[in-house]
Amino acid sequence: MATQYDVVIIGAGAAGLMCAGEAGKRGRKVLVVDHGKKPGRKILISGGGRCNFTNYDVSAANYVCRNKHFVKSALSQYTNWDFISMVSRHGIVFEEREHGQLFCEESAKEIVDMLLAECDLPNVEQRYRSEVHEIEKTESGFALKINADTVNCTSLVVATGGLSMPKLGATPFGYQIAEQFGLKRVPTTAGLVPFTLHKEDKEAFADLSGIAIPAVVEAENGTTFKENILFTHRGLSGPVVLQISSYWLPGQKVTVDLLPDLDLVETLTAMREKHPAQSLKNSLSRMLPKRLIEVLMARGDLLDRPLKQLNPKDIMAVADYFHQWNIAPNGTEGYRTAEVTLGGVDTDELSSKTMEAKNVKGLYFVGEVMDVSGWLGGYNFQWAWSSGYVAGQYA
Ligand SMILES: Cc1cc2nc3c(=O)[nH]c(=O)nc-3n(C[C@H](O)[C@H](O)[C@H](O)COP(=O)(O)OP(=O)(O)OC[C@H]3O[C@@H](n4cnc5c(N)ncnc54)[C@H](O)[C@@H]3O)c2cc1C
Repeated sequence: MATQYDVVIIGAGAAGLMCAGEAGKRGRKVLVVDHGKKPGRKILISGGGRCNFTNYDVSAANYVCRNKHFVKSALSQYTNWDFISMVSRHGIVFEEREHGQLFCEESAKEIVDMLLAECDLPNVEQRYRSEVHEIEKTESGFALKINADTVNCTSLVVATGGLSMPKLGATPFGYQIAEQFGLKRVPTTAGLVPFTLHKEDKEAFADLSGIAIPAVVEAENGTTFKENILFTHRGLSGPVVLQISSYWLPGQKVTVDLLPDLDLVETLTAMREKHPAQSLKNSLSRMLPKRLIEVLMARGDLLDRPLKQLNPKDIMAVADYFHQWNIAPNGTEGYRTAEVTLGGVDTDELSSKTMEAKNVKGLYFVGEVMDVSGWLGGYNFQWAWSSGYVAGQYA
């Protein structure tokens, strides 16, 4: 005998739990299923264990999505302020870090506990270590085979997330459900992810591992971010690289301003007047880590000589080099370390107001499974909260 639910939600992550609590508050009989052994595993490890749960400044501009306008409705139906007030209502103490990012002061576990408390209703059930083997469309909704049981529901919410960090339970199941019901998909790739470098660059920069400097990085499409760039033994990382990786396509280069806060022509010209015998290497080492200058010179990118030997054209060339340092990544570290998945279920297939599939009544998608990816800074969780909330009002 099949058990009947109003709403079945596949995935007990950020978006799924949010949706479960909201649908539950409407009196819907809800079942949340997850193949993992516990809820909110990504939340628990996020933000270095403190969960960057939202941002003071959230708008559609902070999201990568083929349809720029899609995110607006959900973000306005459930805003960052709504989530902040939920966090406050639960007595969670939080702190603001740079760029308006909000983190728990204590632990990310508080966010999971809060979501579970919101789901703590007699009409909301959770099942873990549960595999969904089959989904069938019925006249009144859907029939699912979950482990050895059959479950019927009128609304099915797919909250299975993206592909990043497979060891935390990421699977392509949500995309397979979309495909089963004929929904288009935007090709997926890793986002918010470190770059790997071509062999020659990797070997040259390996010695710089651990060096972090503020930089402005520009993708070929003109998108720029200003934050730290970090040299690692595998390539390039740091917040600015993670951000720009979501705008980078294989084969493209990125342009890095290694000295975004000064005018190098002006600075070197003044230095040449004051200290004409000082070497270019020593001069640049006052502005950037010496090891970096040495590596760039060892590669033959720059020639060391006393400043007095540099004419204005030479100074201009040195300045151009540092303000527009071009580097062509070899690739990214991929889903193993990516924070998000770019692409996913095509938002053209979904109602931006409800998250329901336009052509499949009762089928909803929430969170990262769809073609919506946020910047680093709490935007991905905000999307999970907003889209989960919205579907919870209609499913
Ligand atoms: C290391 C790391 C740190 C991050 N830090 C932040 C941060 O600080 N701030 C921020 O905004 N974003 C952060 N993110 C991104 C954020 O975690 C995700 O965007 C967000 O969790 C997406 O929510 P979701 O509910 O769509 O998916 P998820 O939270 O990934 O949940 C999906 C759930 O579905 C389950 N599932 C998957 N497949 C199946 C299946 N076949 N059957 C049953 N269940 C299934 C999974 O077990 C999981 O519980 C981070 C990501 C990573 C990897």
